[in-house]
Amino acid sequence: MTDIVLIGPPGVGKGTQALVLADRAGLTHLASGDLLRASIRDETVLGLLAKTYVDSGRLVPDELVVDMMVDRMLSAGDTLLDGFPRTVAQAEELEERLGRVRRRIDAAVLLTAPRLTLIRRIVGRRSCRACQAQYNTYFAPSRVEGICDACGGELVTRSDDNATTAQLRLEVYDNQTAPLVEHYRAAGVLREIDGTGDPDEVAGRIAASLSVAAAEPKVGPP
Ligand code: AMP
Repeated sequence: MTDIVLIGPPGVGKGTQALVLADRAGLTHLASGDLLRASIRDETVLGLLAKTYVDSGRLVPDELVVDMMVDRMLSAGDTLLDGFPRTVAQAEELEERLGRVRRRIDAAVLLTAPRLTLIRRIVGRRSCRACQAQYNTYFAPSRVEGICDACGGELVTRSDDNATTAQLRLEVYDNQTAPLVEHYRAAGVLREIDGTGDPDEVAGRIAASLSVAAAEPKVGPP
């Protein structure tokens, strides 16, 4: 089994890179934010419990997210975890549960970018309601504002992508998720990647770093 974690502040391009990497490496892409938004849309019990946290940019309680993600991981094969774990407590609980089935985290890829880039990527982000195509009003605008180039569908903004919530999400990252970087660095599995520039270039940097990662030690019980 191969399990890779993708870490980075909101707006760094985790979602975009996750799709490329999952495809290239044959991994199942599990994005905690996407799964939570789907639960909210479907009004499941988890969605109802998570909604106020997601809308306000705060972290959903660890136990809800850990159960959701571990259940998915165990029924998937090799995985790419996107947005999870997001706290050291989540990482430790994940390692404990994976250890029970003799799985462990093989590599943690950290994407970085300057703060102004992150804010523009978040606040400018738009996606097509119909076909999910992604745009950015600063970096990759649609030809006609608010309309998808690909299918003519309506472009929408995520409820937590406004400036105030973006700022809070960045603070939450600094306070609660950044310590995770040290956790994976200490375990010897961290790969730090510059997330600025063309998405293809970033994808190339990630791929190059992971071919090195295969020979490195793994996180989790022996
Ligand atoms: P994302 O799509 O990764 O930016 O996540 C959107 C929101 O979902 C976050 O602001 C949190 O409210 C929630 N969320 C996603 N992943 C986690 C996680 N691992 N732990 C707690 N909350 C999460």
